[in-house]
Amino acid sequence: MKEQKIPYKIYLEESELPKKWLNLRAFMDKKPAPLLDPVTHKVMSAKDLSAVFCDELAKQEVDDTSKYIDIPQEVRDFYKMYRPAPLIRAYCLEKALGTPAKIYYKFEGNNTSGSHKLNSAIAQAYYAKQQGLKGVTTETGAGQWGTALSMACSYFGLDCKVFMVKCSYEQKPFRREVMRTYGANVTPSPSTTTEVGRKILEEFPGTTGSLGCAISEAVETATKLDGYRYVLGSVLNQVLLHQSVIGLETKTALDKYGIKADTIIGCAGGGSNLGGLIAPFMVEKLEGKADYQFIAVEPASCPTLTRGVYAYDYCDTGKVCPLAKMYTLGSGYIPSSSHSGGLRYHGMTTTLSELYHQGLMEARSVEQTSVFAAAQQFAKIEGILPAPESSHAIRVAIDEALKCKETGEEKTIVFGLTGTGYFDMVAYQKFNDGVMGDYIPTDEEIAVATAKIPKI
Ligand SMILES: *Cc1c(COP(=O)(O)O)cnc(C)c1O
Repeated sequence: MKEQKIPYKIYLEESELPKKWLNLRAFMDKKPAPLLDPVTHKVMSAKDLSAVFCDELAKQEVDDTSKYIDIPQEVRDFYKMYRPAPLIRAYCLEKALGTPAKIYYKFEGNNTSGSHKLNSAIAQAYYAKQQGLKGVTTETGAGQWGTALSMACSYFGLDCKVFMVKCSYEQKPFRREVMRTYGANVTPSPSTTTEVGRKILEEFPGTTGSLGCAISEAVETATKLDGYRYVLGSVLNQVLLHQSVIGLETKTALDKYGIKADTIIGCAGGGSNLGGLIAPFMVEKLEGKADYQFIAVEPASCPTLTRGVYAYDYCDTGKVCPLAKMYTLGSGYIPSSSHSGGLRYHGMTTTLSELYHQGLMEARSVEQTSVFAAAQQFAKIEGILPAPESSHAIRVAIDEALKCKETGEEKTIVFGLTGTGYFDMVAYQKFNDGVMGDYIPTDEEIAVATAKIPKI
């Protein structure tokens, strides 16, 4: 059979948009460990979680048996405005690298929030609205999640209160203003509006904040206000579930042209885009139907999988969220402020942690100057200005393609291009001015942070 010419962009029809999300945990023989109450250490039920999370999302959080979950029609209708997302064959990059490898990337940056985060934001806002809530609270680091949630809340007419990590609030005024344009209320964290914020400010005056701390503030605010719940943009099982739309579309697009991926690469902060991208492929691997190499890429300054510990740990600095068994650097770990590339979370979603622990996935850590070098190379050749987070995946995809150049291997590489970097110009400026540094924590620093992980 004559090989079909693969187009630069593989678009799917609207009718090919997934009708169900894929729940990866339901396919695992050995499941990720359940969430525990931070005080009593008892396994948390959906009912326990519904004090903090929306009812339906709490159910999804603990569901490790339903293999597929219907995507509500209203959510699919919203998805149709910016999905299916294209799978792009990086012909130009392949040529520039002179590699025999075939490179594809799934581009999630084609919406105003500029990232994949809208896939889960719209689902979470939908369930909050269904429950008749007034609004939701959340944290945001770099700002993509807050932006996505602001868009989703304004679509469904919900109030949105965002605690934004202080250094990002100051470094990224434009993101903040996008959120406010969509009607969100944005507070720099730590703030004096919550007990936990005041406590952290007292203990560490002048702190530039962390995601873990902003989470605690958002949870406290949600539990104190009537008609509010807390929502989170990564790490949780429910977020991985919603992000499976990325992997399902990718698989449909590859299958359409008879393409078999060999290596699938994604950046890993809390693990949601990677978990979503690999979901249907990991199912095939778990079922023995196909084999794939999966690579999680993380910053050398926040090396959760590559240098963390697999243990129950707090998800937030204030220790108000459930305990999760995951790879972690300790909830008090704050990456160096010289790190500009996102992916700053101290832990990793339980599903990916367990898969990595079982040896079904690999992880690499990369230094930020090499990440920005890859970002610039990609921007110049493929035209898209990538988010620094996404550029971690670009770095390793290029490294893998260059290995193929040496070995002559014609392997197929698929990576997730999670978003665009228009609001990351302070970081790009540092790179362009040659003043960006690489910070790698010492073993001692990591030992100090991981020593504070509770013994459970
Ligand atoms: C949030 C974000 C990430 C990292 O989050 P995950 O939950 O690990 O996917 C990666 N890329 C972009 C563009 C993001 O906004």
